[in-house]
Amino acid sequence: MALVVQKYGGTSVGDVERIANVARRVAKRHAEGDNVVVVVSAMSGHTDNLINMANSITERPEPREMDVLMSTGEQVTIALLAITLRNMGIPARSFTGSQIKVVTDSAHTRARISDVETGGIKGTLANGEVAVVAGFQGVDPSGNITTLGRGGSDTSAVAIAAALGADSCEIYTDVDGVYTTDPNLCPKARKLDKISYDEMLELASVGAKVLQIRSVEFAKKYGVPIHVRSSFNENEGTWVVEEDDSMEQVIVSGIAYDRKEAKVSVKGVPDKPGIVAKIFGALSEENIVVDVIVQDIGEGGKASLTFTVPQTDLSKTLDVIKPVADELEAEEISANKEIAKISIVGVGMRSHAGVAAKMFKVLAAEGVNILMISTSEIKVSCVIEEKYTELAVRVLHDAFGLEGPAPNIE
Ligand code: ADP
Ligand code: ASP
Ligand code: MG
Repeated sequence: MALVVQKYGGTSVGDVERIANVARRVAKRHAEGDNVVVVVSAMSGHTDNLINMANSITERPEPREMDVLMSTGEQVTIALLAITLRNMGIPARSFTGSQIKVVTDSAHTRARISDVETGGIKGTLANGEVAVVAGFQGVDPSGNITTLGRGGSDTSAVAIAAALGADSCEIYTDVDGVYTTDPNLCPKARKLDKISYDEMLELASVGAKVLQIRSVEFAKKYGVPIHVRSSFNENEGTWVVEEDDSMEQVIVSGIAYDRKEAKVSVKGVPDKPGIVAKIFGALSEENIVVDVIVQDIGEGGKASLTFTVPQTDLSKTLDVIKPVADELEAEEISANKEIAKISIVGVGMRSHAGVAAKMFKVLAAEGVNILMISTSEIKVSCVIEEKYTELAVRVLHDAFGLEGPAPNIE
């Protein structure tokens, strides 16, 4: 008898028929004698609708109230799924994040899980019932409702699987697994049978939204195997697991893109120690996460700084930067949302030279101008104009030989 955590994403629970489809899958597993914990997202589009409603009132709603609002999406789904299961004769009980006690810090809209209490779930399973848990939400030590950032139900599922010591965590979504790139953007994308935690971490961090990055961090830390697969068929999906020798031989295993960042430039600041610290210090105090950073070579005692932030933080960023830039007598601040970050990821890069050079050459051959570059041990990212996103992903996918059958590297 296995203990399995299954997570169903927004599309998989998009309407009552799809919720019935999920219920049938859960019922089958339950009938096989397994203990099943189901974690669900809000119905597709629901979270966006809630956010849009708040944004129609004010551009910057209070984060605490946003969490109260956004957490209602998942509450609808747990109730509908539990009602459907019970209607089918399967005993099931729904739980919100605060009922379980998925304990988080107090960073509203981007909270981090610190503890998952398992008593309620274990009691439910011991009664032979299915536990249906709301993803994406938790509760802080003062009892405030929190949410875990967009795509956070993945993290709820893996954290619950880790806390329960589950045999595996199945992430059911609208594609068959993790692909070499987004299959909805690049039809030649190929499904991977397995991918290392480290590669998945990088892919998730650079925009492959199939798994939220924190879920992969949890999985790696607690050794939870993740199986990403479709809720619409029985196909074997992709296993996210510890790295093995065969993986090192593939130089580039995936390509991701992110259109949700904005580029901010502060031109003509004094070229002397402490200036960069001052600008980024002000941003970090406001919890704004800065991604790619470029500082040009100073000329005539002046330098320019360019960096990217999430588009959702752009207006706050400009507000924070303005007084600092005025104090530093900066010449100009500009912002651009029409950018995309394209990244190639692969553990094999550690031992192969020339990967970045090849990426630059391929983009140049298509006339795609590179605005910013950042690298890590197993990743190269280029910021480009947004209109070239699809083209860049497709030509890089071809250039790095990612289409076709998986390379035979056993
Ligand atoms: P869910 O609602 O089930 O959580 P998401 O929309 O968050 O689903 O994630 C699934 C989507 O991730 C896919 O529909 C696909 O467009 C996108 N995606 C981006 N990169 C990849 C990738 N490398 N492999 C698979 N899907 C990807
Ligand atoms: N409903 C949340 C979102 O849309 C969480 C999730 O789907 O994982 O981001
Ligand atoms: Mg998701």
